[in-house]
Amino acid sequence: LTVLRELTDIIIKNPDISPSESLPDSDPSVFHKRYLKKMRDLGEGHFGKVTLYQYDPANDGTGERVAVKALKQENSQVLEGWMKEINILKSLYHSNIVKYKGCCTELGGQVVQLIMEYLPLGSLKEYLPKRKLGRPQCLMFAQQICQGMEYLHSKRYIHRDLAARNVLVENESLVKIGDFGLTKYIPEGDVYYRVREEGDSPVFWYALECLKEYKFSFESDVWSFGVTLYEILTRCVHRQSPQEKFREMQDTKEHMTVLGLIKLLEKQHRLPSPENCPHEVKILMEQCWAADPAQRPSFTTLIEKFEAIRH
Ligand code: ADP
Ligand code: MG
Repeated sequence: LTVLRELTDIIIKNPDISPSESLPDSDPSVFHKRYLKKMRDLGEGHFGKVTLYQYDPANDGTGERVAVKALKQENSQVLEGWMKEINILKSLYHSNIVKYKGCCTELGGQVVQLIMEYLPLGSLKEYLPKRKLGRPQCLMFAQQICQGMEYLHSKRYIHRDLAARNVLVENESLVKIGDFGLTKYIPEGDVYYRVREEGDSPVFWYALECLKEYKFSFESDVWSFGVTLYEILTRCVHRQSPQEKFREMQDTKEHMTVLGLIKLLEKQHRLPSPENCPHEVKILMEQCWAADPAQRPSFTTLIEKFEAIRH
């Protein structure tokens, strides 16, 4: 009896060694910190940092590889948004959206890490400059992004950060949308979400009404898709990036300001047509950048257009 009591005491003091955790029927979305073996850093953006781990409960090197996203700094301001990001990803099931696998909460306190499937080829931004991707493949990727976005919009979410850096590559014929850090829900009946983000916003991907009035909508995601399409067709080459191209467009050599960008866009200036861009694709891209949001195509329309162009 004393031995049993001692054992119980040990388990209470060390919840990590509780035998119930290793039962086969335990929740597969609960990941235990001690089985996560770090392999390498995958990338980081403004708020998050993503790392490749092997999850190896058997401790024999056979465990699966997972991508783990954590907040760069945990302050109360970003914590609420972080929990929302996790819950949004958890609710999404689509072949062109990165899959949620679970959470790791064992770090004590409020810290939660998001466990996702690992996409071995990284984001389009890393993938594209390295390969000589043909046009058919580019257009296929573009259409897949539209498919993921059509699904997201059908659930009344707006992404707000669609860009090549946030599209992940599974293999040479499959891409998935990732990074739901800025995603917002648009309640039925509403048409936009008004937010003024502090700090760095992805302004070169923003529609005119986002820059001027902080109005984000399904249509402003379509504008960002147009910029993402531009990135794909320029193969994410740095000297042709949206930042560089907008900077070249202004008269002064100074650093580009949001006000400067608004002025350019109001004068109907847009990113140039990528080299060897087919005429129909150029037209589509320009429609995504219509000053009037109502004139922009929906993702459903874009999918039909890509189908027609590709076949
Ligand atoms: P942030 O919110 O900080 O921008 P992201 O979710 O965009 O974070 O991830 C940052 C980078 O990490 C991405 O641009 C990509 O290069 C890499 N990354 C993110 N998720 C994965 C994943 N599931 N598999 C492989 N690489 C990933
Ligand atoms: Mg990102």
